[in-house]
Amino acid sequence: MSVREEFDAWATSGKDRGMEDRHWHTAKHVLARMPVEAGDAVLDLGTGSGYALRALRERGIARGYGLDGAPEMARNARSYTDDADVGFLVGDFDALPFADDSLDHVVTMEAFYYASDPHNTLEEVRRVLKPGGTFYCAVNYFEESEHTHGWQANIAVEMTLWNREQYREAFRDAGLHVAAQDTIPDRDIEIPPADAFPTDSWETREAMVDRYRTWGTLLTVGVVP
Ligand code: SAH
Repeated sequence: MSVREEFDAWATSGKDRGMEDRHWHTAKHVLARMPVEAGDAVLDLGTGSGYALRALRERGIARGYGLDGAPEMARNARSYTDDADVGFLVGDFDALPFADDSLDHVVTMEAFYYASDPHNTLEEVRRVLKPGGTFYCAVNYFEESEHTHGWQANIAVEMTLWNREQYREAFRDAGLHVAAQDTIPDRDIEIPPADAFPTDSWETREAMVDRYRTWGTLLTVGVVP
């Protein structure tokens, strides 16, 4: 199944807003760390409902571009804001429709591992960023967070499962300096008391704690020399 088929279906069934609510728990911390300044142009890869750009516009960026491979995602994102300085476009992580050295920052939340060739995507990110530009890459699906590994079985698009070191190495291979790497725990999700387990989604409380409080979101920050 293609990105378009898989995620158009998610958008039409309202999963875009559901993801926004859940991802916000850690995405808000990722966005707060971005060194955006008034006048900056920012690209959001796999924008979903477009919430990241709506939040960054409140911090004064001049222009936000939300790229998504699923037209229904881009269409929904457009309908959630009438801000003319945020644009949504349909495209693929394989070939970013931006000129060399044209953007101040790129951000991506819970989307990078869907890239069909993640190394090429990193090179594309490097290409479109200006010197000194940053890439904030946030993923919940990564090697150390073992209770996320089952997601692949529910998603028809092939996913890349890297560990922390593999992210840093791939960033360096693409010519990005690794400025920071960190895991951001999800402290907002409610974890029921032990006697509530198993739940519909979790066998044990320990597994849920490991997924959210221990690991949460892996953030790797790259800077263009
Ligand atoms: N960033 C949003 C959405 C995450 S879901 C959030 O945090 O909620 C992942 C998104 O990436 C989906 O909207 C999907 O359509 C998009 N996507 C996945 N693979 C893609 C690719 N290869 N090119 C462009 N968009 C892609």
